[in-house]
Amino acid sequence: IIDKIAALPPGTNYFSLEFFPPKTQQGFSNLHARLVRMSHSLRPLFVNVTWGAGGSTASKSLALAELTQHSLGLTTCLHLTCTNMSRKLIDETLDQAKALGVRNLLALRGDPPRSAEYRDDRVPGQEEDDSNKDFAWAVDLVRYIRSRYGDYFCVGVAGYPEGHSDQSHPEHQSVDHDLPYLVEKVAAGADFIMTQLFYDVQAYERYVRLLREHDSGLFKTIPIIPGLMPIQNYQILRRSTKLSHASLPDDILKRVEAVRSDDEAVKAVGVDILSEIVESLKALDMADHRGFHFYTLNLEKAVAQILERCDLIPCSISPDASPVGRSSGPEEA
Ligand code: FAD
Repeated sequence: IIDKIAALPPGTNYFSLEFFPPKTQQGFSNLHARLVRMSHSLRPLFVNVTWGAGGSTASKSLALAELTQHSLGLTTCLHLTCTNMSRKLIDETLDQAKALGVRNLLALRGDPPRSAEYRDDRVPGQEEDDSNKDFAWAVDLVRYIRSRYGDYFCVGVAGYPEGHSDQSHPEHQSVDHDLPYLVEKVAAGADFIMTQLFYDVQAYERYVRLLREHDSGLFKTIPIIPGLMPIQNYQILRRSTKLSHASLPDDILKRVEAVRSDDEAVKAVGVDILSEIVESLKALDMADHRGFHFYTLNLEKAVAQILERCDLIPCSISPDASPVGRSSGPEEA
């Protein structure tokens, strides 16, 4: 991914699309057809495949990564969480990802089960499963990947423009609280930062400025890719912003609430809103390359309309000449 970003002409915009593995075979077939369509018509720089916390979707995530990377030739970023995962499963996943030609990983902690306590709070001698001794935070996974695979994988980590929040420690939700740990993740070898979804462009702008100007100098040029979720309906919007602790600016909320009972109207307003957000982000002029990550929820229409409207779809150029063309082979990062 970072090689592809670096190869883009200065000022070029790019985008990635995120998919989760469907539960059923029928769902998988539907997604397969949709991915073929979307990859041809939209031409993302890369796609992301999510991972169920604790490894709950391990085989399905790997099957989807096989489809996107190996069969469709799309540069794929496989998400991988590390808490409540056995070291064996992490090892097997990394080996299988490599065997499939996946060169990009998003190294995540994952959400602990509700009952679990933070490692810092555990009673000494309390029984822990093997995974938690080695993998308490995402940085542990970044270090592990680097120690076992060197530079083979391009590694991304999560960033939170409005701060990360855990149910167990909601009082910690602040960008300042997360900052030292983001520093750790990048110092440990992360290549790019992909953010939590947000609708508050000013919060994102403050976040990126804070990172770019950080004394460590670690964030001067690292790609920071904003996470955007198209609005599918009112309930999903409220639920996903609540779960991710993303604020909804008043003007956005009012526009959606005005049509909340009409899903089609919500989607249309949502396309307007997301397109405005993308244009505002483009105008920030804080980096040479501007990337946009879309949480698609495996849906096609809204994201296609936003990409079209914001002129983000690259023209199709022959694969060898194209800086934004699709992966030329399974080994490409
Ligand atoms: P960390 O970077 O470890 O941080 C977690 C929290 O702990 C932060 O509040 C941080 O400040 C704090 N912290 C970090 N290190 C320490 C330390 N040493 N001491 C004390 N506090 C510390 N989840 C999934 O299950 N599957 C996915 O596919 C998935 N994809 C995601 C994609 C993106 C782009 C994002 C932003 C999130 C994704 N998540 C996914 C959610 C993620 O797993 C959760 O938000 C999780 O709670 C935190 O993961 P992290 O990697 O940010 O953790």
